[in-house]
Amino acid sequence: MSSFKPPFQGRPSTFTVYTDEKNAHADKPFPKLQYCVRCCVPQTQEGVVFDELGVCQACQSAEQKIHIDWAERERDLRATLEAAKAQAGNNYDCIIPISGGKDSTFQLHVLTKIYGMKPLAVTFSHNWYSETGWYNLQNSLEQFNVDHIMFTPNRSLVNRIAKHSLAGIGDSCWHCHAGVGAFPLQAAVRFNIPLLVWGESIAESSGRASYKNPVRKFDREYFTKVSAKLRPDQMVRDDLSERDLYPFNVPSAEECERVGVYGIHLGDYIFWDDERQTEFVRDVYGWRETQIEGSYKRYKSAECIMPGVHDYANYLKRGYGRATFHSSVDVRAGLLSRDEAWQLIRDNDGVRPEGLDYYLKITGMTEEEFHATMEGHRRPELKNVVIPIYPKSSPNEEKLVPHPQQLIEKVQAETAVPQAPADDKAGP
Ligand SMILES: [Zn+2]
Repeated sequence: MSSFKPPFQGRPSTFTVYTDEKNAHADKPFPKLQYCVRCCVPQTQEGVVFDELGVCQACQSAEQKIHIDWAERERDLRATLEAAKAQAGNNYDCIIPISGGKDSTFQLHVLTKIYGMKPLAVTFSHNWYSETGWYNLQNSLEQFNVDHIMFTPNRSLVNRIAKHSLAGIGDSCWHCHAGVGAFPLQAAVRFNIPLLVWGESIAESSGRASYKNPVRKFDREYFTKVSAKLRPDQMVRDDLSERDLYPFNVPSAEECERVGVYGIHLGDYIFWDDERQTEFVRDVYGWRETQIEGSYKRYKSAECIMPGVHDYANYLKRGYGRATFHSSVDVRAGLLSRDEAWQLIRDNDGVRPEGLDYYLKITGMTEEEFHATMEGHRRPELKNVVIPIYPKSSPNEEKLVPHPQQLIEKVQAETAVPQAPADDKAGP
């Protein structure tokens, strides 16, 4: 590790690069922050609520999950789906937004194999597909024989938005947050399909709902509020017009009302277990895992090359990354002790992601500019606190360049006419 050279000289002084792993001890990463007394969620997580004993809402949800009458919930689900089928006629029974991730593969299994639904699969492509993710998406379409529509914003647009996203919302992924929220709704309105079926319950991943109080009311602007933060008109810049951003608008309230758009999360009706579902889709449908930066798990956001940059940005502004989230889930499930969790957090959250190289390339930013921008997003609880950054110990398993670009490069290299030596070019 001693040969590691910090790639970002001149970074803000409160980001410190640590290279001596031996002296590191794993405990709460930032002693000044309040953490949930059961898991590892810090007070800087957006929307987190601790009860009077200091237990976070996700931990309370995990406890509720065990006591819920899932058989009754399943009957509710069946009734909802049967009603949608009866209403659909020859149209599709529902829309299923899919990425090719393990959740969407499991959703396709539940809807088509268990409930006999005829869904229209809809994908907003962030245009950052990993090779594994592209395989998983295509494989799921073949496995389940579903009709599919994909919207893909152009490369130049993605690159320009990615640049402004960092300053605008403090992470690299506005176009994905906004597109994932908008495109399935646009499809619902255009194809006149009222029901949208998502996967994991909101209770599982954030403090915005619990299993006892699920978000049942449909909110067309949910993704704007939760992840995109800014509306398309608020993302307009010199090199980003309102016309460029048109595809990221959600349909109007009137349009949604006309079609009667509503959505459900399967995780509010059937017991959700990431680990077992991953094993299931892997063993039964050939779904593939891959290395995911910033995480010790190999399945979340496997479809994208950028989760490492997204989560690293979160770490720089809020002091926690994907490993905190995952290990908190595992602590709740009894798979990890809290001490083991702190170690995994220590080993993963603060590691500089290799995907940052691609992000800097497409945005033209320097690493200093990246860190300076993130400094501006830092939560007040972490002001003047040293946020340690560690080098990544070995190259990523997969090349972190979008799959289409890798494919084009590969095919062109195979079929390229050999270049004449420079000297010959000067001839008549
Ligand atoms: Zn907790």
